[in-house]
Amino acid sequence: MIILIKQSATEEQMQHLEGWLQLQGLGIHRSTGHAQTIMGLVGDTSRIDIDLVRALDIVEDVKRIQEPYKNANRKFHPEDTVIDVAGRKIGGGHFMTIAGPCSVESEEQIIEVAKAVKEAGADMLRGGAFKPRTSPYAFQGLRGEGLRLLSLAKKETGLPIVTEVMDISQLELFDDVDVIQVGARNMQNFELLKELGTLRKPILLKRGLMSTFEELLMSAEYIMAGGNEEVILCERGIRGFETYTRNVLDVCAVPVLQKLSHLPVIIDPSHSTGRADLVAPMSLSAVAAGADGLIIEVHNNPAKALCDGKQSLTPAAFGKLKKKIDSIRATMNEWDD
Ligand code: PEP
Ligand code: MN
Repeated sequence: MIILIKQSATEEQMQHLEGWLQLQGLGIHRSTGHAQTIMGLVGDTSRIDIDLVRALDIVEDVKRIQEPYKNANRKFHPEDTVIDVAGRKIGGGHFMTIAGPCSVESEEQIIEVAKAVKEAGADMLRGGAFKPRTSPYAFQGLRGEGLRLLSLAKKETGLPIVTEVMDISQLELFDDVDVIQVGARNMQNFELLKELGTLRKPILLKRGLMSTFEELLMSAEYIMAGGNEEVILCERGIRGFETYTRNVLDVCAVPVLQKLSHLPVIIDPSHSTGRADLVAPMSLSAVAAGADGLIIEVHNNPAKALCDGKQSLTPAAFGKLKKKIDSIRATMNEWDD
C-alpha cells in the first residue's frame, strides 16, 4: 500500500501518521521526490481502513500495490535510486563500466588487468575469488588469497572492487570489498540474501538462469527488507534452446526492470554470450536500451585464462569498446535533452 501525501503536509503531521502506522505493526518507507512525498507501507496492510487513512487532512490518496515486491517497486520510490560506490555513481543517469577478469589468478595478472582497465576508463574492477563452477574439478578460485590480491589491485589503482560471495561464512573476508556480487546460481539463496540485507554495502544481484523478472525483484526484496536498499540488478542471460551462444541475452530486461523498479540495471554481455566477438555488439545494444552500466570480462591473456577465456576481451579490445560505449552514451544524452 502507498499513501500519497499532500504537499502542504508538515513534518510533524507526517511523523504523527508514521507513528500511528508503526503501531499497527507496519514498516514505513518514506520517499521524498520533487513533486510528491510517498509513504510505502510494508507488512500486513489488510487491517488498515483505507477510507479512514484517505480521509486524513494530509493524505491525497491511498493505493494498494498488487506486486509482491514493495521496497524494490517503483511505485514505492518513483525516483531512480542512485548508488555511490567510493565516489562513483550508478543509476539516475549515472553510468558505470565494470571490467576485469572472470577470476583472480595471480598478483601479476590482476594488477596488470586492473591497470589496463583503469587506463581505458573503467569505473570498477571485477574479479572472482570464490568461483561457482559447473565441475568440481575446474579451478575454484583463489578464495581468501584472491580477495587479498583484489585489495592489492584496489590499492594500486584506486578502483573499487566487486567480487562474488557464495556462502555466508565467506562474508567475514569481504570488509574491503566495495560491492558484493550474488551470482546467478545464488539468486534464490534466501538465507544469503537475508544476511546481505543486514549489511550496509551495495549488492550486485544477478538474474538466475531460469528466473523471471518478478523472481529477480523478489530476491532484491529479500535484501531490501533487511534494510539494505543498495541493490544493482544484473541481466546476465537466461537459458534458451540456442547452443551457439552460452545463454540468451534478454536486453528487454533493461526497460522492463527500470519500469518496474527504481534500482539500477546493468548488463553482463560476457556470461550472456560466452563469446568475445559478441561482447561489443551486445554491450552497445545494452547502452542503447538505456542500461545503467555494464560488467565485462577482460583478461590480459584470454587464451591462458583459468576460467571463461573464450568470452574475455583483451585490454586493447576493451579500450576500443569503451570509446564506443562513451560515444553512444553521449548521443543518447543529446536525445534526452
Ligand atoms: C561471474 O560474474 O563471474 C559469474 C560467475 O557470473 P554468473 O553468476 O552470471 O554466471
Ligand atoms: Mn566468468
